[in-house]
Amino acid sequence: MMNIDWGNLGFGYMKTDFRFVSNYKDGKWDDGELITDDSVVINESACVLQYAQTCFEGLKAYRTKDNKVVCFRPDLNAKRMADSAARLEMPVFPEGKFIEAVKKVVKANIDWVPPFGSGASLYIRPYMFGTNPVMGVKPAIEYQFRIFVSPVGPYFKGGMKPIILRVPDFDRAAPRGTGHVKAGLNYAMSLHAIIEAHNQGYNENIYLDSATRTKVEETGGANIIFVTKDNEIVTPKSSTILPSITRRSLMYVAENILGLKAVEREIYKEELSDFKECALCGTAAVLSPVGKIVDHGKEYAFPSGMEKCGEITQKLYDTLTGIQKGEIEPPKGWIFEI
Ligand SMILES: *Cc1c(COP(=O)(O)O)cnc(C)c1O
Repeated sequence: MMNIDWGNLGFGYMKTDFRFVSNYKDGKWDDGELITDDSVVINESACVLQYAQTCFEGLKAYRTKDNKVVCFRPDLNAKRMADSAARLEMPVFPEGKFIEAVKKVVKANIDWVPPFGSGASLYIRPYMFGTNPVMGVKPAIEYQFRIFVSPVGPYFKGGMKPIILRVPDFDRAAPRGTGHVKAGLNYAMSLHAIIEAHNQGYNENIYLDSATRTKVEETGGANIIFVTKDNEIVTPKSSTILPSITRRSLMYVAENILGLKAVEREIYKEELSDFKECALCGTAAVLSPVGKIVDHGKEYAFPSGMEKCGEITQKLYDTLTGIQKGEIEPPKGWIFEI
């Protein structure tokens, strides 16, 4: 067994034993293989380095109560990566091969999957980038697809603590742009806004729709849900939001397991004062309760407060993580055994 203090792991990169690598050349992907080398060596003018031609995914492997190792809906990550690649003029890594590669790399690093009950999990990072030298602006003709894994700690140590968001003066995604795909470039342009938010004492930015700046969309790396006073779950609808697998799963859980109404619709900034709970959702934390949103001095404080997670948010969290840990019967096809 690994000599790791699983309960005190942070959310950071740790080198594990194997990574999966496949190369695309002459119009086709090779079979791919597991390697031990954690370095990538590419030409100085590689398309990814000059023009950011890269996309990625993120999912986790967990140990269940009966000590199986499972992943949560990897087929949706495979599909989303195919969509991202197509939008960036990259060759699609076949969805079936994607899932097989996830399985291979987790199996090869099985001792790095944290034990059940530790709160930790194995983060899986598939990504792809253009490798051959380019000068003019055009897509690469050679690519590398890679998956590495890294054990990560529980996102919130000692319970879920509400966070504060601010409405930034920056926009995240343009209409008809790339906001709906998981492109590295969406993150590069968010770095300045996040540093500014942190310097001002906020945890994250909540971006508005850039066309009208009247509706809320999502943060730099997580979707958002709200709970109305009638216990309805609402989430913003927009073509520039990244379709979070966690959010889609939570909406399903709300409607089909918890018997709550779940609606995807446009949400105007002024409506924020109508909601009683708010939370961010994504693979890393599943749900992070939001206590307050600040828009240039105007504060929207949610009744759930800054001390604890709202009641409905907690219910959603317990149900989805219960499914992931094998404690609650999953909807068909949600749990993929490694
Ligand atoms: C990855 C990501 C999310 C969360 O998606 P999950 O599939 O739930 O992990 C949300 N927003 C953005 C911008 C993202 O890149």
